[in-house]
Amino acid sequence: MNQDFSNFNEELLNERKDKHCGYRLCPFCGSDLNEKLLDGHSRMVCSSSNCDYIYYQNPVPAAGAIIVQDNKILLVKRAHPPKINYWCIPAGFMEWKEHPSETAVRELKEETGLDVKLTSFFEVYTGNDDPRANAVLMLYLAEITGGKMQASDDALDVDFFDLDNPPNDIAFESHLRAIADYNKRVRGL
Ligand SMILES: [Zn+2]
Repeated sequence: MNQDFSNFNEELLNERKDKHCGYRLCPFCGSDLNEKLLDGHSRMVCSSSNCDYIYYQNPVPAAGAIIVQDNKILLVKRAHPPKINYWCIPAGFMEWKEHPSETAVRELKEETGLDVKLTSFFEVYTGNDDPRANAVLMLYLAEITGGKMQASDDALDVDFFDLDNPPNDIAFESHLRAIADYNKRVRGL
């Protein structure tokens, strides 16, 4: 894999994200979008009188799974920006019509090569530190049922880390919170 990430400008993306993702034109009719206050929220509304398009900026749902063996948590090293080379809990954005449980199982397989069985729901987090989109992250607890551990797709590496001493370079704040919550709720620390 030899991808060029030179166009990924985190600062620019963060700035754009908070301005309706930078959208300026109606995706249906191509007219200008105008910023209007609707129900107390700033929305981008199509300026054409023949079109009723309104852009609602919503967080993007994502799902993943916490897998712990012998007090070690499974993490993947990110192969793409943002936070390339940082570690995170295996997770990803939901595909259209997917259930979050399906997303979690699929992402685990894609990123770690492992087949997993979800054992329970763990927690839901908001994540506002990804420059591409704000996310709602649903995390499950899971067990490995098969497959061969091998980083692929969005991951450069996959490994288990001591829950008492996780890596410093965790990609997202919500993942850090999840590790802390796991230590508190499941391990009783
Ligand atoms: Zn329009």
